[in-house]
Amino acid sequence: SVKAIVIGSGVAGLASAIRLSLSGFEVTVLEKNGYPGGKLSSFSSAGYHFDAGPSLFTQPENIKELFDLAGEPMEAYFQYSAMQNACKYFYEDGTVLTAAADAKKLAITLHEAFGEQISNVETYLQQSKTLYENVGTIFLNYSLHRKDTLTKAPVLAALTSVKSKHLFSTLHKVNKTAFKDERTVQLFNRYATYNGSNPYQAPGMLSLIPHLEYNQGVFYPKGGMISITNALYKLAKKLHVTFVFDAPVKKITLHNNRATGVETDRETYQAPLVVSNMDVYGTYKYLLQQEQKAAQILKQERSSSALVFYWGIKTSFPQLELHNIFFSKNYKEEFDHLFIHKRVYEDPTVYINITSKCEPGIQAPVNKENWFVMVNAPANVGQDWGKYRALYRAAIIQKLNRLLHTNVEPLIEAEEILDPVLIEEKTASYMGSLYGTSSNSRMAAFLRHPNFSKKIKGLYFAGGSVHPGGGIPLCLKSAKIMCDMVQQDYRFA
Ligand code: FAD
Repeated sequence: SVKAIVIGSGVAGLASAIRLSLSGFEVTVLEKNGYPGGKLSSFSSAGYHFDAGPSLFTQPENIKELFDLAGEPMEAYFQYSAMQNACKYFYEDGTVLTAAADAKKLAITLHEAFGEQISNVETYLQQSKTLYENVGTIFLNYSLHRKDTLTKAPVLAALTSVKSKHLFSTLHKVNKTAFKDERTVQLFNRYATYNGSNPYQAPGMLSLIPHLEYNQGVFYPKGGMISITNALYKLAKKLHVTFVFDAPVKKITLHNNRATGVETDRETYQAPLVVSNMDVYGTYKYLLQQEQKAAQILKQERSSSALVFYWGIKTSFPQLELHNIFFSKNYKEEFDHLFIHKRVYEDPTVYINITSKCEPGIQAPVNKENWFVMVNAPANVGQDWGKYRALYRAAIIQKLNRLLHTNVEPLIEAEEILDPVLIEEKTASYMGSLYGTSSNSRMAAFLRHPNFSKKIKGLYFAGGSVHPGGGIPLCLKSAKIMCDMVQQDYRFA
């Protein structure tokens, strides 16, 4: 069988290895870290378990698809349950709102809390569904850089469901027109952050994201998010994928504009098919030494990054859920700081994920809680992160004290911190961006790097920095689009 190399074992690297193996390739994954998963990893500290990166799990069918393709029973590897609630929201004016992961229930809640018309909320979420099904489906399943997408994909349905507001208005304008209360607008503006974008710049098209939570559902993987990595790693091993850890790839070797393999410090691997799961910027700059192409990628704005405080909390907070948001008072100013000034905002929106709510006594010691506390942060442009960590920590504690009517700091008995520089160090994501490039421009979807190289035959890409974008569902789709292409290219080669 033909050899294939996958550079990186992020969630898209794992899915790529599984798909290529099932397509008949002999696959080797080379991973610079000593563990699989990239951003989707975990660690323990003082008896507390923490998922290191992603915490929101939607669209489990993307994972099921991999097990179905392999003819393996997913339940033997991976289990999950549906959550009743999507998120609990805390506003600075004291309002607390629990958003059910259900369109009808959410509409009633927003009516009761903010006086929104039930039908308005339902229409918005129905439109979100239509957009997702007609436009999102093309974007998520096809390359935007292959001519045959036009003939294969249901393009007509997409064109008829897109309204000019989805392309030419910002997400904020769309939401402001749809809802009367600014707290509802803030709730729906937040979805731009799901791919590291700015609701005051990103197109109305992003209004398709809430469909995932309110129509499709929010899920919790048993054992935490790390179970996704563990399950895919185990499946890949079952399919005889070879993994080499602590093996940073230094170079992609070429001959006559064809990929011929890769080199690490220790070894040379030959293969006519190379898939990079490394950030596309680093792939060009370091592995191909194509400075110009790397610079061209930077013309697109990077997505936002994050500061995460992993706190072991020695008590429990019955008023909190799995997902909690403490909104900033002035969302516009917060995003101006993130994307324009690239500075800390004194009143950041704070997200707290607590997996011990779903698995008490397992994810954290009995009667204690594992808090994953995240604030959006600007991508790294050389800010003083030592200073910023202290500023954000103080701002977060102040905000939580205010909105939870308590004194949080003495309750923290374990602490680890992640910042944009560490994110880059750990996963080679340029500037510590969580989702590759942002979707702040109308053309972002088309400018994002395709899943193949136009110049180098045999070189493909899968992961958050290429089409269709970042976040676990999109990363899994990128592996699918890449592998569909490989199958087609190799059949006709
Ligand atoms: P990555 O996870 O970036 O992994 C790339 C892998 O390649 C790494 O293992 C790296 O070590 C390896 N690598 C890089 N260079 C080399 C080299 N030269 N040689 C060998 N190996 C190399 N997404 C969600 O869906 N929901 C969320 O709630 C969410 N929250 C997030 C919170 C945080 C704090 C972070 C950091 C991310 C979050 N994301 C979330 C985004 C999500 O984690 C990513 O989009 C996704 O995990 C990226 O997967 P990937 O396959 O692109 O690769």
